[in-house]
Amino acid sequence: MAARPVARLAVPDDLGKEAVLASAAVADGIRVARRVQHDAARVLSKADASPVTIADFSVQALVASRLARDFPDDPLVAEEDAAALRGADAADLLARVTACVRTVDATIGSREVLDSIDRGAGRAGDRFWTLDPIDGTKGLLRGGQYVIALALIVDGAVQLGVIGCPRLSLGTAPGTTIANGAGGLALAVRGRGAWWASGTESALVALSVSALAEPERARVLRSVEAKHIDVNGFDRALRNLGTREPPILMDSQAKHVVLAAGGADALLRFPPARDTHDAIWDQAAGAILIEEAGGRVTDLDGRTLDFSAGRRLSRNFGLIGSNGLLHQRLLSTDQRG
Ligand code: AMP
Ligand code: MG
Repeated sequence: MAARPVARLAVPDDLGKEAVLASAAVADGIRVARRVQHDAARVLSKADASPVTIADFSVQALVASRLARDFPDDPLVAEEDAAALRGADAADLLARVTACVRTVDATIGSREVLDSIDRGAGRAGDRFWTLDPIDGTKGLLRGGQYVIALALIVDGAVQLGVIGCPRLSLGTAPGTTIANGAGGLALAVRGRGAWWASGTESALVALSVSALAEPERARVLRSVEAKHIDVNGFDRALRNLGTREPPILMDSQAKHVVLAAGGADALLRFPPARDTHDAIWDQAAGAILIEEAGGRVTDLDGRTLDFSAGRRLSRNFGLIGSNGLLHQRLLSTDQRG
């Protein structure tokens, strides 16, 4: 299906200026990411920069520049830094990233690209934004899912999450999603709800998790990439749960969107090692989306995710997301034994 831009987003003003402006920034991020996808063959043929690098830098530059303009006092904690774009031998890469950003905003030059990307080294303090410019890099390359994930964290808790999904759509039947869709954007505001804005319509559609309570029918999401997780732990948990449904393999926080939309009933992340902790940008936007759609999120030990520990979720281990009804069962199952 042809990719279309996320046009005329209708995020109501009463959701707050953070919701309106962050959604607009992520919608711009989708445009840039698609541009890179479109140009991937040309970029790869030059053999000195992967499309992923260009996409990561370009999306971070544009979204960070929007945040600097709209919320100049808020720090940003983001995945990339501009070190690889500085220096004489990086001139070509910087030129390409700048050209890519300028397809969406021609007022941005290479100096602003560098400075905007490096705004991502901000301090994770009382109030800050966190951004994964391309979550699901391997999905992007494989033709699978990838997203642009932006969240606002206040006092260690996520208050707002926006997930731009270039390749996901909601189906017309309730609780269905289309993995090779026209794209759209998911938005959650603490205490207000969770919504989807499709790439072709302006109206927001409320998201809500499934109502499934029987473990044996649970549809459970996991990463595609076996290296990102403990596959044995995941398989054991599925057996202990007793579901007859096959797992749903998907890259990135597109998983969280599918769970929030009722297209699956749970999401399990077993880290590959005891000392592996996700970055905050890998879970922040997705966690609030699941919660505001009526679901529940904890780590594998049942703890609330603590976003005040720095750039990583170092006080948590793994993740259980669910529709709420299955959560206790998922926790009480001896997941690791
Ligand atoms: P997923 O597609 O759910 O596996 O999520 C992708 C995210 O996994 C990326 O954004 C990375 O932050 C994270 N990731 C990348 N490599 C690893 C790894 N070797 N172990 C654990 N997580 C990883
Ligand atoms: Mg990531």
